[in-house]
Amino acid sequence: MYTDQHIHSSWSGDSETPASDQADRAIALGMERICFTDHHDPFVVSDVDFELDFKGYFEDMPKLHEAYSGRLDIGIGVELGLQTHIADHLEMLAKAYPFDLIIGSVHFVEGLDPYYPEYFEKYGDRAYTLYFETVLENIRLMSCYDILGHLDYIVRYGKGFGLTYSYDEYSDIIDPILRIVIDGGKALECNTGGMSRGLSEPDPCYDVFRRYREMGGELITFGSDAHDPSTLGCYFDEAGAMLRDIGFRYYTVYRGRTPEMHKL
Ligand SMILES: [Zn+2]
Ligand SMILES: [Zn+2]
Repeated sequence: MYTDQHIHSSWSGDSETPASDQADRAIALGMERICFTDHHDPFVVSDVDFELDFKGYFEDMPKLHEAYSGRLDIGIGVELGLQTHIADHLEMLAKAYPFDLIIGSVHFVEGLDPYYPEYFEKYGDRAYTLYFETVLENIRLMSCYDILGHLDYIVRYGKGFGLTYSYDEYSDIIDPILRIVIDGGKALECNTGGMSRGLSEPDPCYDVFRRYREMGGELITFGSDAHDPSTLGCYFDEAGAMLRDIGFRYYTVYRGRTPEMHKL
């Protein structure tokens, strides 16, 4: 079972799952390693408090790592919400704590999360373009991450508004994003979280991974984005088959922010 490197626990404002429940589930699934990536998306207008208590997190998680020693190798990561106006804050955090990995994800566009219908009501046909432009703008500015999280996150929610999406429609923005990921030595995350909510492909989709490989991209990670144990490791077999079909032969596991290649 591939290492799940995108897992949330009650350290995230939108999860009530004790981290040990996620670890137990990973053992039941036969995983040897997982990495927690709780949210830090500060200064946003939301019903949820996405600010991570780093001090508490780094007191608690090493204890969990110890407690599971010999049964499950537990990494400590974070999912940083990329926002251009807090670039310095995020770069500082990346250096301040001993993370195994950092996922950089865009959840907020002009202060609005596409998770909420207001985003699509406000931006209509521009909703997808604006999302990808925001990803590009952020990664041009910041390199404090190892893995670009769920590149087409917006697809999870746009479908309900009848908005179509294909790589070809947005290739003029997606290609420069992939270029920065590849040249910067970052990984592209294969996020299966949307599949547990009905998407037929991971985030990003098959065609984006095909293009990534065509452009020379090699580093890929698996992440279920599980906020509770029911979706931990979900659809990894399907996603792995998809990536092998495209031609990938290895996936990446991070320790101490250093990539290791594992057979796919
Ligand atoms: Zn996310
Ligand atoms: Zn997440």
